[in-house]
Amino acid sequence: MAPLESLSIIIPVYNEQQNIPLLYKAVVSALQPLKNVWEIIFVDDGSEDDSLKEMEIVAAQDHDHVRVIELRRNFGQTAAIAAGFDYAKGDIVIPMDADLQNDPSDIPLLLQKIEEGYDVVSGWRKNREDPFLTRTLPSLIANWLISAVTGEHLHDYGCTLKAYRREVINGFRLYGEMHRFIPVYAASVGARITEVVVHHHPRRFGKAKYGLERTLKVILDLFTVKFLSSYADKPIYLFGGSGLLFFLISGIMLLFLFIRRIFYSISPFDSPLFVTSLMFMIFGFQSILMGLIAELLMRTYHESQGKPTYLVKKVVNGSEDIHPTEQP
Ligand code: UDP
Ligand code: MG
Repeated sequence: MAPLESLSIIIPVYNEQQNIPLLYKAVVSALQPLKNVWEIIFVDDGSEDDSLKEMEIVAAQDHDHVRVIELRRNFGQTAAIAAGFDYAKGDIVIPMDADLQNDPSDIPLLLQKIEEGYDVVSGWRKNREDPFLTRTLPSLIANWLISAVTGEHLHDYGCTLKAYRREVINGFRLYGEMHRFIPVYAASVGARITEVVVHHHPRRFGKAKYGLERTLKVILDLFTVKFLSSYADKPIYLFGGSGLLFFLISGIMLLFLFIRRIFYSISPFDSPLFVTSLMFMIFGFQSILMGLIAELLMRTYHESQGKPTYLVKKVVNGSEDIHPTEQP
Protein backbone atom coordinates (compact mmCIF):
# COMPACT_ATOMS: atom_id res chain seq x y z
CA MET A 1 0.00 0.00 0.00
CA ALA A 2 1.21 3.51 -0.76
CA PRO A 3 2.28 5.46 2.32
CA LEU A 4 -0.42 7.77 3.64
CA GLU A 5 -0.16 11.27 2.37
CA SER A 6 0.62 14.12 4.73
CA LEU A 7 -1.78 17.00 5.28
CA SER A 8 -1.28 20.72 5.72
CA ILE A 9 -4.21 22.72 7.07
CA ILE A 10 -3.75 26.39 6.21
CA ILE A 11 -5.57 28.99 8.25
CA PRO A 12 -5.41 32.71 7.41
CA VAL A 13 -6.05 34.77 10.53
CA TYR A 14 -6.96 38.41 10.86
CA ASN A 15 -8.33 39.46 14.24
CA GLU A 16 -9.83 36.15 15.34
CA GLN A 17 -8.53 35.92 18.90
CA GLN A 18 -11.60 34.22 20.38
CA ASN A 19 -11.80 31.70 17.57
CA ILE A 20 -8.23 30.37 17.67
CA PRO A 21 -8.40 28.03 20.72
CA LEU A 22 -11.79 26.62 19.66
CA LEU A 23 -10.66 26.18 16.09
CA TYR A 24 -7.49 24.41 17.14
CA LYS A 25 -9.48 21.95 19.26
CA ALA A 26 -11.94 21.32 16.45
CA VAL A 27 -9.16 20.65 13.92
CA VAL A 28 -7.37 18.31 16.29
CA SER A 29 -10.50 16.27 16.98
CA ALA A 30 -11.14 16.02 13.23
CA LEU A 31 -7.60 14.93 12.39
CA GLN A 32 -6.59 12.77 15.32
CA PRO A 33 -8.60 9.72 14.21
CA LEU A 34 -6.80 9.78 10.84
CA LYS A 35 -3.56 7.92 10.31
CA ASN A 36 -2.02 10.67 8.19
CA VAL A 37 0.78 12.93 9.33
CA TRP A 38 -0.59 16.45 9.60
CA GLU A 39 0.30 20.03 10.41
CA ILE A 40 -1.66 23.22 11.01
CA ILE A 41 -0.17 26.39 9.59
CA PHE A 42 -1.65 29.54 11.06
CA VAL A 43 -0.85 32.61 9.01
CA ASP A 44 -1.24 35.77 11.06
CA ASP A 45 -2.23 38.42 8.56
CA GLY A 46 -1.21 41.44 10.63
CA SER A 47 -3.85 40.98 13.35
CA GLU A 48 -4.27 43.93 15.70
CA ASP A 49 -5.87 41.96 18.54
CA ASP A 50 -4.44 39.06 20.57
CA SER A 51 -4.73 36.49 17.78
CA LEU A 52 -0.97 36.09 17.49
CA LYS A 53 -0.68 35.46 21.21
CA GLU A 54 -3.39 32.80 21.02
CA MET A 55 -1.64 31.12 18.09
CA GLU A 56 1.66 31.14 19.92
CA ILE A 57 0.00 29.50 22.89
CA VAL A 58 -1.31 26.60 20.81
CA ALA A 59 2.01 26.38 18.95
CA ALA A 60 3.84 26.06 22.28
CA GLN A 61 1.41 23.35 23.43
CA ASP A 62 1.61 21.36 20.24
CA HIS A 63 5.11 21.63 18.84
CA ASP A 64 4.68 18.71 16.47
CA HIS A 65 1.63 19.95 14.64
CA VAL A 66 1.30 23.71 14.79
CA ARG A 67 3.32 26.31 12.96
CA VAL A 68 2.68 30.05 12.91
CA ILE A 69 3.73 32.36 10.10
CA GLU A 70 3.52 35.99 11.12
CA LEU A 71 3.17 38.43 8.24
CA ARG A 72 4.51 41.95 8.70
CA ARG A 73 1.21 43.65 8.05
CA ASN A 74 -2.28 42.90 6.78
CA PHE A 75 -1.93 41.65 3.20
CA GLY A 76 -5.42 40.19 2.76
CA GLN A 77 -6.83 36.68 2.90
CA THR A 78 -5.52 35.57 -0.49
CA ALA A 79 -1.93 36.60 0.30
CA ALA A 80 -2.15 34.92 3.69
CA ILE A 81 -3.29 31.68 2.04
CA ALA A 82 -0.45 31.99 -0.49
CA ALA A 83 2.06 32.32 2.35
CA GLY A 84 0.58 29.20 3.93
CA PHE A 85 0.94 27.28 0.65
CA ASP A 86 4.58 28.30 0.41
CA TYR A 87 5.37 27.00 3.89
CA ALA A 88 3.20 23.88 3.75
CA LYS A 89 5.02 20.55 3.71
CA GLY A 90 2.00 18.31 3.15
CA ASP A 91 1.13 16.33 0.02
CA ILE A 92 -2.43 17.54 0.42
CA VAL A 93 -3.08 21.17 1.22
CA ILE A 94 -6.34 22.28 2.84
CA PRO A 95 -7.07 25.96 3.43
CA MET A 96 -9.91 26.93 5.75
CA ASP A 97 -11.22 30.07 7.48
CA ALA A 98 -10.28 30.82 11.07
CA ASP A 99 -13.71 32.03 12.12
CA LEU A 100 -15.30 28.59 12.63
CA GLN A 101 -17.68 29.22 9.74
CA ASN A 102 -16.02 26.28 7.99
CA ASP A 103 -16.25 23.05 9.96
CA PRO A 104 -13.07 20.99 10.43
CA SER A 105 -15.20 17.85 10.78
CA ASP A 106 -15.68 18.04 7.00
CA ILE A 107 -11.97 17.49 6.34
CA PRO A 108 -12.17 13.66 6.29
CA LEU A 109 -14.92 13.98 3.66
CA LEU A 110 -12.64 16.02 1.42
CA LEU A 111 -9.81 13.54 1.94
CA GLN A 112 -12.01 10.65 0.97
CA LYS A 113 -12.58 12.29 -2.42
CA ILE A 114 -8.85 12.91 -2.83
CA GLU A 115 -8.26 9.21 -2.15
CA GLU A 116 -10.81 8.39 -4.83
CA GLY A 117 -8.43 10.07 -7.25
CA TYR A 118 -9.51 13.69 -7.42
CA ASP A 119 -6.84 16.39 -7.35
CA VAL A 120 -9.11 19.19 -6.14
CA VAL A 121 -12.12 18.85 -3.85
CA SER A 122 -14.14 22.02 -3.49
CA GLY A 123 -16.34 22.69 -0.48
CA TRP A 124 -19.87 23.83 -1.26
CA ARG A 125 -21.65 25.84 1.46
CA LYS A 126 -25.09 24.72 0.37
CA ASN A 127 -26.78 26.20 3.42
CA ARG A 128 -24.78 29.33 3.75
CA GLU A 129 -25.07 31.30 6.99
CA ASP A 130 -24.19 34.80 5.81
CA PRO A 131 -26.32 37.92 5.20
CA PHE A 132 -28.37 37.19 2.06
CA LEU A 133 -28.39 40.53 0.27
CA THR A 134 -24.78 41.60 0.76
CA ARG A 135 -23.02 38.22 0.63
CA THR A 136 -25.02 35.18 -0.40
CA LEU A 137 -26.85 36.66 -3.40
CA PRO A 138 -23.82 38.44 -4.90
CA SER A 139 -21.89 35.24 -4.41
CA LEU A 140 -24.57 33.19 -6.22
CA ILE A 141 -24.30 35.56 -9.18
CA ALA A 142 -20.49 35.52 -9.10
CA ASN A 143 -20.41 31.71 -8.98
CA TRP A 144 -22.77 31.47 -11.92
CA LEU A 145 -20.66 33.96 -13.88
CA ILE A 146 -17.37 32.23 -13.08
CA SER A 147 -18.84 28.88 -14.14
CA ALA A 148 -20.19 30.36 -17.37
CA VAL A 149 -16.97 32.14 -18.28
CA THR A 150 -14.43 29.51 -17.29
CA GLY A 151 -16.49 26.43 -18.22
CA GLU A 152 -15.57 24.91 -14.86
CA HIS A 153 -18.82 24.22 -13.03
CA LEU A 154 -18.62 24.60 -9.27
CA HIS A 155 -21.34 25.91 -6.98
CA ASP A 156 -19.14 27.70 -4.49
CA TYR A 157 -15.81 29.12 -5.60
CA GLY A 158 -15.69 31.40 -2.57
CA CYS A 159 -15.69 28.62 0.03
CA THR A 160 -12.20 28.61 1.53
CA LEU A 161 -12.45 24.99 2.65
CA LYS A 162 -11.07 22.99 -0.25
CA ALA A 163 -8.49 20.25 -0.61
CA TYR A 164 -5.72 20.31 -3.18
CA ARG A 165 -3.15 17.80 -4.18
CA ARG A 166 0.08 19.75 -3.92
CA GLU A 167 1.25 19.15 -7.53
CA VAL A 168 -1.70 20.94 -9.06
CA ILE A 169 -1.14 24.18 -7.19
CA ASN A 170 2.62 24.40 -7.59
CA GLY A 171 3.60 27.25 -9.82
CA PHE A 172 0.37 29.21 -9.38
CA ARG A 173 0.89 32.66 -7.90
CA LEU A 174 -2.06 34.23 -6.10
CA TYR A 175 -2.98 37.89 -6.54
CA GLY A 176 -5.98 40.02 -5.53
CA GLU A 177 -8.91 37.81 -4.56
CA MET A 178 -7.66 34.92 -6.56
CA HIS A 179 -7.57 32.06 -4.10
CA ARG A 180 -11.07 31.19 -5.25
CA PHE A 181 -9.80 30.67 -8.79
CA ILE A 182 -7.27 27.98 -7.89
CA PRO A 183 -9.67 25.27 -9.14
CA VAL A 184 -9.82 27.02 -12.52
CA TYR A 185 -6.05 27.09 -12.71
CA ALA A 186 -5.87 23.48 -11.56
CA ALA A 187 -8.35 22.49 -14.27
CA SER A 188 -6.19 24.24 -16.84
CA VAL A 189 -3.24 22.03 -15.90
CA GLY A 190 -5.35 18.90 -16.13
CA ALA A 191 -6.53 18.34 -12.54
CA ARG A 192 -9.59 16.20 -11.76
CA ILE A 193 -12.06 18.29 -9.79
CA THR A 194 -15.13 17.55 -7.73
CA GLU A 195 -17.17 19.20 -5.00
CA VAL A 196 -18.78 18.10 -1.74
CA VAL A 197 -21.39 19.82 0.40
CA VAL A 198 -19.82 21.14 3.60
CA HIS A 199 -21.26 22.64 6.76
CA HIS A 200 -21.35 26.37 7.28
CA HIS A 201 -21.97 28.16 10.54
CA PRO A 202 -22.76 31.75 11.38
CA ARG A 203 -19.87 33.74 12.78
CA ARG A 204 -19.96 33.69 16.57
CA PHE A 205 -16.94 35.80 17.51
CA GLY A 206 -15.25 38.69 15.77
CA LYS A 207 -16.39 40.57 12.69
CA ALA A 208 -16.67 39.63 9.01
CA LYS A 209 -14.01 41.56 7.11
CA TYR A 210 -15.68 41.71 3.73
CA GLY A 211 -18.87 43.05 2.20
CA LEU A 212 -20.36 43.60 -1.22
CA GLU A 213 -17.24 45.22 -2.70
CA ARG A 214 -15.52 41.87 -2.64
CA THR A 215 -17.84 40.51 -5.34
CA LEU A 216 -16.83 43.39 -7.64
CA LYS A 217 -13.16 42.55 -7.16
CA VAL A 218 -13.91 38.91 -7.87
CA ILE A 219 -15.61 39.81 -11.14
CA LEU A 220 -12.62 41.94 -12.19
CA ASP A 221 -10.26 39.09 -11.29
CA LEU A 222 -12.38 36.85 -13.48
CA PHE A 223 -11.24 38.80 -16.56
CA THR A 224 -7.60 38.16 -15.67
CA VAL A 225 -8.20 34.52 -14.92
CA LYS A 226 -10.09 33.89 -18.14
CA PHE A 227 -7.41 35.67 -20.15
CA LEU A 228 -4.55 33.86 -18.45
CA SER A 229 -6.15 30.43 -18.54
CA SER A 230 -7.32 30.63 -22.14
CA TYR A 231 -4.85 32.90 -23.90
CA ALA A 232 -1.69 33.24 -21.83
CA ASP A 233 0.37 31.19 -24.26
CA LYS A 234 -1.38 32.36 -27.41
CA PRO A 235 -2.39 36.00 -26.85
CA ILE A 236 -2.40 36.77 -30.57
CA TYR A 237 -5.52 34.59 -30.93
CA LEU A 238 -7.45 36.96 -28.70
CA PHE A 239 -5.96 40.29 -29.81
CA GLY A 240 -5.55 39.25 -33.43
CA GLY A 241 -9.04 37.75 -33.40
CA SER A 242 -10.61 40.99 -32.23
CA GLY A 243 -8.39 42.88 -34.69
CA LEU A 244 -9.78 40.80 -37.54
CA LEU A 245 -13.30 41.38 -36.27
CA PHE A 246 -12.71 45.15 -36.34
CA PHE A 247 -11.42 44.84 -39.93
CA LEU A 248 -14.50 42.88 -40.89
CA ILE A 249 -16.86 45.50 -39.43
CA SER A 250 -14.89 48.25 -41.13
CA GLY A 251 -14.96 46.31 -44.43
CA ILE A 252 -18.75 45.83 -44.27
CA MET A 253 -19.24 49.57 -43.72
CA LEU A 254 -16.95 50.47 -46.62
CA LEU A 255 -18.65 47.97 -48.88
CA PHE A 256 -22.04 49.45 -48.04
CA LEU A 257 -20.76 52.98 -48.81
CA PHE A 258 -19.19 51.75 -52.06
CA ILE A 259 -22.40 50.07 -53.25
CA ARG A 260 -24.39 53.17 -52.37
CA ARG A 261 -21.93 55.27 -54.35
CA ILE A 262 -22.23 53.05 -57.43
CA PHE A 263 -25.99 52.54 -57.50
CA TYR A 264 -27.35 55.67 -55.87
CA SER A 265 -24.48 58.11 -56.48
CA ILE A 266 -24.38 59.08 -52.82
CA SER A 267 -20.91 60.28 -51.82
CA PRO A 268 -19.36 58.09 -49.09
CA PHE A 269 -17.63 61.12 -47.59
CA ASP A 270 -20.94 62.66 -46.49
CA SER A 271 -21.78 59.74 -44.26
CA PRO A 272 -20.57 59.37 -40.65
CA LEU A 273 -20.09 55.70 -41.52
CA PHE A 274 -16.96 56.58 -43.45
CA VAL A 275 -15.13 58.01 -40.45
CA THR A 276 -16.48 55.21 -38.29
CA SER A 277 -15.13 52.58 -40.65
CA LEU A 278 -11.69 54.24 -40.59
CA MET A 279 -11.83 54.20 -36.80
CA PHE A 280 -12.58 50.50 -36.78
CA MET A 281 -9.72 49.89 -39.17
CA ILE A 282 -7.34 51.67 -36.78
CA PHE A 283 -8.72 49.65 -33.85
CA GLY A 284 -8.01 46.55 -35.89
CA PHE A 285 -4.38 47.49 -36.52
CA GLN A 286 -3.88 48.47 -32.89
CA SER A 287 -5.34 45.26 -31.66
CA ILE A 288 -3.13 43.09 -33.85
CA LEU A 289 -0.05 45.08 -32.85
CA MET A 290 -0.96 44.64 -29.16
CA GLY A 291 -1.28 40.93 -29.82
CA LEU A 292 2.25 40.87 -31.22
CA ILE A 293 3.60 42.65 -28.16
CA ALA A 294 1.77 40.18 -25.95
CA GLU A 295 3.37 37.33 -27.94
CA LEU A 296 6.80 38.83 -27.25
CA LEU A 297 5.99 39.08 -23.52
CA MET A 298 4.76 35.52 -23.45
CA ARG A 299 7.95 34.25 -25.08
CA THR A 300 10.07 36.26 -22.64
CA TYR A 301 8.12 34.71 -19.78
CA HIS A 302 8.49 31.12 -20.94
CA GLU A 303 11.99 31.29 -22.34
CA SER A 304 13.73 33.45 -19.75
CA GLN A 305 12.49 31.23 -16.93
CA GLY A 306 12.83 27.96 -18.81
CA LYS A 307 9.12 27.36 -18.28
CA PRO A 308 7.76 24.67 -20.59
CA THR A 309 4.37 25.07 -22.25
CA TYR A 310 3.25 21.66 -20.94
CA LEU A 311 3.11 19.80 -17.64
CA VAL A 312 4.11 16.17 -17.27
CA LYS A 313 2.12 13.90 -14.96
CA LYS A 314 4.56 11.02 -14.96
CA VAL A 315 7.09 9.31 -17.17
CA VAL A 316 7.05 5.54 -17.74
CA ASN A 317 10.43 3.80 -18.17
CA GLY A 318 12.63 6.82 -17.81
CA SER A 319 13.89 9.34 -15.35
CA GLU A 320 12.05 12.58 -14.98
CA ASP A 321 15.13 14.57 -15.97
CA ILE A 322 14.60 16.30 -19.24
CA HIS A 323 17.29 16.93 -21.80
CA PRO A 324 17.17 20.68 -22.04
CA THR A 325 17.19 21.73 -25.65
CA GLU A 326 17.76 25.42 -25.26
CA GLN A 327 18.44 26.03 -21.62
CA PRO A 328 21.98 27.01 -20.63
N1 UDP B 1 -8.72 37.17 6.75
C1 UDP B 1 -7.35 37.41 6.57
N2 UDP B 1 -6.97 38.65 6.16
C2 UDP B 1 -7.85 39.66 5.90
C3 UDP B 1 -9.23 39.38 6.05
C4 UDP B 1 -9.63 38.12 6.46
O1 UDP B 1 -6.53 36.53 6.79
O2 UDP B 1 -7.43 40.75 5.54
C5 UDP B 1 -9.15 35.83 7.20
C6 UDP B 1 -10.12 35.85 8.37
O3 UDP B 1 -9.45 35.89 9.60
C7 UDP B 1 -10.87 34.55 8.16
C8 UDP B 1 -10.92 34.41 6.65
O4 UDP B 1 -9.86 35.23 6.15
O5 UDP B 1 -10.16 33.46 8.69
C9 UDP B 1 -12.25 34.82 6.06
O6 UDP B 1 -12.59 36.12 6.48
P1 UDP B 1 -14.10 36.54 6.77
O7 UDP B 1 -14.73 35.55 7.69
O8 UDP B 1 -14.10 37.97 7.19
O9 UDP B 1 -14.72 36.42 5.32
P2 UDP B 1 -16.11 35.77 4.93
O10 UDP B 1 -16.27 34.48 5.68
O11 UDP B 1 -17.11 36.77 5.32
O12 UDP B 1 -15.98 35.56 3.46
MG1 MG C 1 -16.19 34.19 7.64
